Amino acid sequence: MIKINKHYTKLEASYLFSDIARRVSEYTEKNPDKKIIRLGIGDVTRALPPACIGAFHKAVDEMAADTTFQGYGPEQGYDFLREKIAAIDFQTRGINISPDEIFVSDGAKCDTGNIQEIFSRDIQLAIPDPVYPVYVDTNVMAGRTGRNVEGRYEGIVYLESTRSNDYVPDLPEKSVDLIYLCFPNNPTGATVTRQQLRQWVDYAREHKALILFDAAYEAFIRDNAVPHSIFEIEGADEVAIEFRSFSKNAGFTGTRCAFTVIPKKCRAFAENGEPVSLHPLWLRRQSTKFNAVSYPVQRAAEAVYSEEGQQQVQGLTSYYLENARLIRNKMSDLGYQCTGGVNSPYIWIKGDLDSWEFFDLLLEKAGVVCTPGSGFGRCGEHHIRISAFNSYDNVVKALENISQALG
Ligand code: PLP
Repeated sequence: MIKINKHYTKLEASYLFSDIARRVSEYTEKNPDKKIIRLGIGDVTRALPPACIGAFHKAVDEMAADTTFQGYGPEQGYDFLREKIAAIDFQTRGINISPDEIFVSDGAKCDTGNIQEIFSRDIQLAIPDPVYPVYVDTNVMAGRTGRNVEGRYEGIVYLESTRSNDYVPDLPEKSVDLIYLCFPNNPTGATVTRQQLRQWVDYAREHKALILFDAAYEAFIRDNAVPHSIFEIEGADEVAIEFRSFSKNAGFTGTRCAFTVIPKKCRAFAENGEPVSLHPLWLRRQSTKFNAVSYPVQRAAEAVYSEEGQQQVQGLTSYYLENARLIRNKMSDLGYQCTGGVNSPYIWIKGDLDSWEFFDLLLEKAGVVCTPGSGFGRCGEHHIRISAFNSYDNVVKALENISQALG
C-alpha cells in the first residue's frame, strides 16, 4: 500500500487568496460599473528593465547557433553571474563574500522552502508571526511540527511582531535552533537596525543556532542606517544563510532567478556536536536535485549589474517606493498607524476592525483590494497589507477613493 506523507494532512488549507477572489467577484457582480483597483498582490506590475531584455534576447540568439549554444549549466550558476553578484551586492559594501559562496536558483521561494531539508527533523524552529507562509508550511511538510491548533502549529516558537516591538520580534525566551528572519519584511514592511541584527547574530552564536535571512526586498532600502545584508554584521558568516531574489528589484517574478549565499564558514552540528560546514551540503543537494537556471535568464540577471541595469533597477524600485510613500502618507493622514512604505513596497496598516472587516470596508466603499493581515498569522489580526506594486495612476485613484470613503 502506497502511503502519503502524513504531515501534509496537518497543513492548514490556505483560503486567503481564494477568499479574497470570492469577495472581489461578489462585489463586481453587485457593482458591475465600479472599477476595482488591486493593491493586494505581492507581484510586480512593470516590465523587465531594457538592459535585461537586451541581454535576454542576445542569449536566446546564442542558443540558436551550434557554436554558441549552451546545454546544461553549472548547478551553482554561471561564473559570470556569481562574480557580479559577489562584487556588486557584497564586496562593494565591504562584505567578504566570494562567488563560490553564491548559489544561483530559480527563486527565493524554492530556496527558503528547500533549505530546511539539510537540517535534522528534531530541531526547535523559531518563525515570525506574521510571516511569509513558505517558512512555516515547508517545515510542516517535513514533519517538524505538531497539529495546527487555532491557527498555530504545535512545536514552533512564534516570534511575534506587533506594534509594541515596532514589528521587529524580540529574542526568544526559549532556546531555539533555526531562526527565520525577513527584512525588509513581508508583510509588515518593517526594517531592522544593525544593532538589532547584531543581537540575533550574537544569539545564534551563543545558542549554536542558525539564522535564515530572507532579503528578497533588499533593493528597496534607501536609508543608510538599514543593513542590506546580514553579513554586514561581524560573525554572521558562521551563523547565517541569506536569500536574495531578482523578482522584486528587476521584475523577474515570471522570469525566475534568485540566489542563496552560504559562506564557507557557516556551520551546523553533527550528532556528536562536531561543527559541519553547510556549504558542501547545499552544493550536494543542489547538484542532486537542481539543474541550474536557464542560460538566457542568467544572462538577463547579469545585466542587472551593468551600469544601465543598475540605473534601471533603481528607477523601477523608486517608482514603487513613490507609490508606497503616497499610500503611507494618505493612510497616516486618515488616522491609521502605518509601518513600512519606506525602504519597503508594503504598508502594514493597523485598524480597529478585524482584518476581514477592514478588507471589506476598503473593497465596498473604495473598490480597493488589499490583503487582510490575519492571512499572514495571528499577529496580523486588525491589520491589512497594502502593496505598492501597481501603476502610479492606479495608486492615486485608489487613494482618492479611500479618502472619499473613509475621510
Ligand atoms: N521571500 C519573500 C519574503 C517574498 O515575499 C517572496 C515573494 O513574494 C519570495 C521570497 C519569493 O521570491 P521568488 O520570486 O524569488 O521566489
